[in-house]
Amino acid sequence: MTEVLYLLDCYLKEFEATVESVKDDKYVVLDKTAFYPNAGGQPYDTGKLVRLSDNAEFSIVFVAKFGDVISHEFTPAGLQAGDQVKGIIEWDRRYRHMRMHTAAHVIANVIEKEAGALITGNQLGLDKSRIDFSLDNFDREKFKEYEEKANQIIKENRKVNLSIVSREEAEQSLKKLTTLAKGFPPEIKQVRLVEIENFTIEGCGGTHLASTGEIKGVRIINLENKGKNNRRMYYELVD
Ligand SMILES: [Zn+2]
Repeated sequence: MTEVLYLLDCYLKEFEATVESVKDDKYVVLDKTAFYPNAGGQPYDTGKLVRLSDNAEFSIVFVAKFGDVISHEFTPAGLQAGDQVKGIIEWDRRYRHMRMHTAAHVIANVIEKEAGALITGNQLGLDKSRIDFSLDNFDREKFKEYEEKANQIIKENRKVNLSIVSREEAEQSLKKLTTLAKGFPPEIKQVRLVEIENFTIEGCGGTHLASTGEIKGVRIINLENKGKNNRRMYYELVD
């Protein structure tokens, strides 16, 4: 089981860890990590591991999650179990994903509150991101209003608070755990809650900004209508 450092500190850029295992000279599991894996529509982090004993550097080119374990693909070969390493996250990429991800919470919750939409899919990118909704009334004019409301919440610079609670506790205190149409995965027993103050609170494992102001702004750039359960919206960040 990997200790996951980004759950309560999304701004951790460097950390020290011990190599627990190496597979095929290219996949490493650490006792703890701040590298975000490819999950929930948010792309994996890249960066490097520096071995403390000899300063040898290994690039991290892909990160994935298997149950409670996070596996990092590295190159070149050479890491071994027991090595002490320093992990360094490629910060520009991660921070851009944090802005995109936090923006997704803001926009999706505006559309959920205004129109009762539920999320059926999403994919974040560095330049543009996509959210798919299930939504009865797909009124393109309305999306201009949603964009304005989202930018208002961004401008208000609301705090984003993170906590980890048991699933029972989360289910008792919240009406629902997520705006995902498919609901919250049943196998998850501990829930990481993400609260945008006076706006939303929901379960999510991604990486988030400390306040909405850091998003700076969003622009809806394209809408596609692929049927009731698949209204597709693309957005970008505005600096
Ligand atoms: Zn999230």
